[in-house]
Amino acid sequence: MNFNDLGLEPELVSAVAAHGYTTPTPIQAGAIPPVLAGRDLLAGAQTGTGKTAAFVLPLLQLLGAAEGRAPRALVLAPTRELAAQILESVRVYGVNKRLRARVIFGGVGEQPQIDGLKTGCDLLIATPGRLLDLAERGFANLSEVRHFVLDEADRMLDMGFIHDIKRVIRRLPGKRQNLMFSATYTPDIRTLAARILVNPAQVEVTPPNSTVERVTQLAYRVAKDDKRHLLVHLFENGANGEGPWYQALVFTRTKHGANRLSQQLERAGIRSAAIHGNKSQAARTRALADFKAGKLAALVATEVASRGLDIRELPQVVNYELPNVPEDYVHRIGRTARAGNDGHAVSLVSADEAPLLRDIEKTMRQSVPFAPTPDFARRRFG
Ligand code: AMP
Repeated sequence: MNFNDLGLEPELVSAVAAHGYTTPTPIQAGAIPPVLAGRDLLAGAQTGTGKTAAFVLPLLQLLGAAEGRAPRALVLAPTRELAAQILESVRVYGVNKRLRARVIFGGVGEQPQIDGLKTGCDLLIATPGRLLDLAERGFANLSEVRHFVLDEADRMLDMGFIHDIKRVIRRLPGKRQNLMFSATYTPDIRTLAARILVNPAQVEVTPPNSTVERVTQLAYRVAKDDKRHLLVHLFENGANGEGPWYQALVFTRTKHGANRLSQQLERAGIRSAAIHGNKSQAARTRALADFKAGKLAALVATEVASRGLDIRELPQVVNYELPNVPEDYVHRIGRTARAGNDGHAVSLVSADEAPLLRDIEKTMRQSVPFAPTPDFARRRFG
């Protein structure tokens, strides 16, 4: 199977080939033909499956050439990072087309976004809050939207966007194509899908477990106070004889914890930055760029800040603290092992976190092996 077989036009197939992709991923193979045929779609797919191209490619084809001023396609995404990454994919796959894509999200000045909309836009990517703000003040005209995409719908609901989503939908024309992507199918997601989608094609790919299977997981028993020493030790020595870590995404539970840990790593000589909701968009973008460029060894992130981060070939994910929700663990470690690569996930588990690990193991139907705790940290565990 190649991209030609999916019914994509040559401009798109050559852009994809130029980017180095030869074979569609399962979600692309399953979603692109029905979307090109104009059908609604319900897709069960998490980040890392190639889901972005699964809607961006057919949308680019359906939109054809630049036309009018108001956007004809709207993609809603939960976070600014994800929205920015979708725009990046549109640029990559759309290089041979003359379509105007814009992104709007909060946390940055609105004037450039307003100016962008004024000059004309075919495809608009947005987070719900800023979009509504601009729409209600008359800067974003949604009356021409013929294709509507809800990306990471489950995350949107988790983040409390349901009312915003409904308000956006009320501004769209009734006759339109709807695509909805979600990693999980909770009852809320099914209700939303039933509301929005008309006779959708359904595509399900790789349940989270198959991503998890490609991740080598390891846990350490360690006292809270020793976690930072153990983490420095792991950066310097690796966990499994793989040698020093050159790049790891480290999860903490709180914004404050992320800042503190990042400073502690810096003091230990490990280049590090923290990203979380209190950081400005510019600071987050810079940290991500420095991390991708290899200037930082550690990116310390909270759960929300990490959503939608697309870092290719991320070798290590560290759970400095375990998440309360088992699905978040699966989501976190899915940041490594993307697009077919293998990855490693290390969890630092203090005594009070043992029950969380048990819940995670139950959810994955898989146990996480413990590595021997290095001597210096073992003394104090308990
Ligand atoms: P996504 O699930 O959209 O976040 O994509 C996950 C990663 O897979 C991104 O880094 C994409 O650039 C990459 N990717 C998307 N489609 C393909 C493909 N057909 N072959 C290889 N990699 C891909």
